[in-house]
Parts: sequence; structure tokens; C-alpha cells
Amino acid sequence: MEQIPYKIYLNENEMPTAWYNVRADMKKKPAPLLNPGTGKPMTAEELGHVFCDELVRQELNDTDAYIPIPDEIRAFYKMYRPSPLVRAYCLEEKLQSPAKIYYKFEGNNTSGSHKLNSAIAQAYYAKKQGLRGVTTETGAGQWGTALSMACSYFDLDCLVYMVKVSYEQKPFRREVMRTYGAQVTPSPSNTTAIGRKILEEFPGTGGSLGCAISEAVEAATTREGYRYVLGSVLNQVLLHQSVIGLETKAALDKYGIKPDIIIGCAGGGSNLGGLISPFMGEVLRGEKNYRFIAVEPASCPSLTRGKYAYDFCDTGKVCPLAKMYTLGSGFIPAPNHAGGLRYHGMSSILSELYDQGLLEARSVVQTDVFRAAEAFARVEGILPAPESAHAIKVAIDEAQKCKETGEEKTIVFGLTGTGYFDMVAYEKFHNGEMGDYIPSDEELQKGFDKLPKLN
Ligand SMILES: *Cc1c(COP(=O)(O)O)cnc(C)c1O
Repeated sequence: MEQIPYKIYLNENEMPTAWYNVRADMKKKPAPLLNPGTGKPMTAEELGHVFCDELVRQELNDTDAYIPIPDEIRAFYKMYRPSPLVRAYCLEEKLQSPAKIYYKFEGNNTSGSHKLNSAIAQAYYAKKQGLRGVTTETGAGQWGTALSMACSYFDLDCLVYMVKVSYEQKPFRREVMRTYGAQVTPSPSNTTAIGRKILEEFPGTGGSLGCAISEAVEAATTREGYRYVLGSVLNQVLLHQSVIGLETKAALDKYGIKPDIIIGCAGGGSNLGGLISPFMGEVLRGEKNYRFIAVEPASCPSLTRGKYAYDFCDTGKVCPLAKMYTLGSGFIPAPNHAGGLRYHGMSSILSELYDQGLLEARSVVQTDVFRAAEAFARVEGILPAPESAHAIKVAIDEAQKCKETGEEKTIVFGLTGTGYFDMVAYEKFHNGEMGDYIPSDEELQKGFDKLPKLN
């Protein structure tokens, strides 16, 4: 048999021409977004005040399996895609495992992660609608960085509300955003009513993602010609990220490889949703079988310990309600949590698939995650983002199991990005200053107690 190369590259012409919408193949669809005022499903018109029209159509579309990727977006994708599917020969050797391990590497662009795949799509549709700009929030800064690159490409204004602690502690991503022309505001700020209210209630707060979302939504809805964009969780984002899974499948098919286990880290669920979508489609249509594993931090365990319920997507409660596995919109991970993936909820699509038993979930503690990150970096060369290292950790665990049983399973995992801007977290790990924090049931109950009452 032909030797599988270290890197399976597709050529440009093999890049997908349409995104795959897994909702079309789901018999039981994900629950709709609800209007928090009326408790009724959000209409396209209501969503249109916040999001771009075409993105609203994609958000609500649960029938079309394929949605064409416009040529302008494909042209941008070609700057950094197709991304390589790497056979982890060196890691296999190191583990002495009979498992065959592959990873899809999404870190080969300046923003350093998969988030650019959706940022460019969202910026394109905003431009096409004739808008002046978009607003968003960013935590550590990956999404803001990706969006600022996409906006500068299409000459759109980009207003980013960056969680204040990150703004102060992570100046590098902030400066990358400003290099691409974004206006970056630390959140909470006094530029919005919700920001002023939060500052009054909690003076000196370092902010949170939920609070920055509220500010960004307010900034979009109170400005002429602006809309809000979000980098994860939403159906439209999973749709755009399906480019990851489609390329992975095309690369595997080229060599007749069938994966047994597909693994991804899960924050809001977009990279994992995108990676598994085409494979999940085969399962839903009864064509094939795979195991899918979502990996989340033990300190922010929305799938493994959360409730499947309607919840607010943001602290200010200005966004629609989404049915998802959630820890409650007030949940904020412990301050020592350094590994990202800190959103309180999970994509409605992944939540529904998990509820149907089609997706497994596992939680891991951060010292194990950084140990896996370091082991991976030392043999495969790539310095992984802490988020990505959650998937590495479980891929290694599964390969170890194969070693015990002698099974030659094929494992594919998503390597979502690089960790160059996360060296403070690596430093803590190296200095032995990193702790593991697992919230108690009582702590989680506080978040559940604040779930909206319509459940
Ligand atoms: C944002 C991010 C994630 C998590 O987001 P998802 O929407 O769950 O994919 C994972 N890895 C990297 C590198 C990220 O930047």
C-alpha cells in the first residue's frame, strides 16, 4: 500500500465549494432561538436588527444541506487554505501506540486559529449588505484578531470590546487587532449603557465575555449601518467551520482512510462542530459509524456537568435565549483558569447531538492539558494553543488505550491553533504555579438557580 505522507495537502481546486449544514440531516432539529420578551422563536426580522440579513438566513436554515461558498470568500480562503491534515508519525512513535493519529492544523494564518474561517464569511456578508462596520467581543483575542483581518480585507469598520483583564494582560493580540485597523475598547466601558451599569455595580471589575457581548450588541444596535457578529456558538459559525471537516474528509478519502474516533476541543463548539459535521452527516443518514468526543475544561464543564435548558447567551441578557448545555449565564470560571474555552454554554447543534447520544464529552484538568501540549510540541514541533491541547490530551489518552488493547484505531483530532500569545499560561505551568480547579456542585447550582424560568 502507498505510504501515507506526513502531510496530506489538498490543492486549491479540491477545496470545498459549499459549506455543509448538518442540521439538514438531523431528524430532531436543534431548538430555535427564543425572544426573551415573548418566549416565542426569534423571527428573521427580529434577528435582522442584530445580525446581517444573509447570516440570519443561514442561522435559521435547517433544511439545505449545502450552502455555496461565494467566490470572494474562497479567494480569501486560498491565502491560507486548504490546511494540512498531518499524520502524527512522531507522536505515534513516541507513544509506541499502534493507533494511527491524524490532526487537522488550523493555526497557519496570522490570527493563529480556525476563527478566520467564519470571520471572513461574516465580514463578506456585512460588506455585501452595504454596512459600514461590525461590532464584536473578544476574550483572549483570537476572534477579535481574526475579525480585524477579515474587516480590513473588505474595508469595514471593526469595533472590538475586549474583556478588560485580557486588554491589560495581553497587549500583543490587542496590537495585532489595531495593526489591522480595529478599534479596541476594554470592557466594561463607559461607551455603552450596559457597560456603565456594570461599572457602577462592580467598580474595578476585570470584565467577562458575557458582559463584552452585551456591550458589543448594544454598540451595533444603536449605530446606523452596524451589525453584531459572533465567533462561535451560533449555527452560522458551525456552518462556516464545516470547511474544516469537509477538507479533512476529502484528505482522508484520498487515501481511503476511515477514522474510528474524531476528537475536538469545545468552547462554544464551532471548531468541533465544523470538524465533525460531514462525518456526523454520514452517521445521521445511516451510512457510517464514528465515535465523536468533545473535550472541555474541568473548570468550565458545560456538557459534562451542565443543564440542557434555555439560557441567556450574555450577562446583560440582551441576546436571544438559546437551548443549550449551560452552566448559567452568570458562570465565570475560576481566576486561575488559563486554558481558554471559558464560555458558559455550548452550541445548540452540538447540545442536541450530545443529548441524542451521538456525541461523547469528556472534561480534563488544565495541568494535564499543558502536559499534553508540551509533549506534543516536543515531538511534532507545533506549539499548540491551550484550547487545542484539550483535544491533544484526549487523543493521547485514546492512543494509550490502543496500546493496552493492541487495537490499531485511527484517531483524528482538530488542532485549532498556535499558542504563541499564551506563553504566560505556559510560564505558570513551567513554574509549577498552575493549579487545577474543579467547581463544586454547590457552586454550579448557583448558576443553575439563575436560569430563566420558562424552562
Ligand atoms: C476560540 C478557540 C477555540 C474554541 O472555540 P470553539 O468555538 O469551541 O471552536 C479553540 N481553539 C482555539 C485556538 C480558539 O481560538
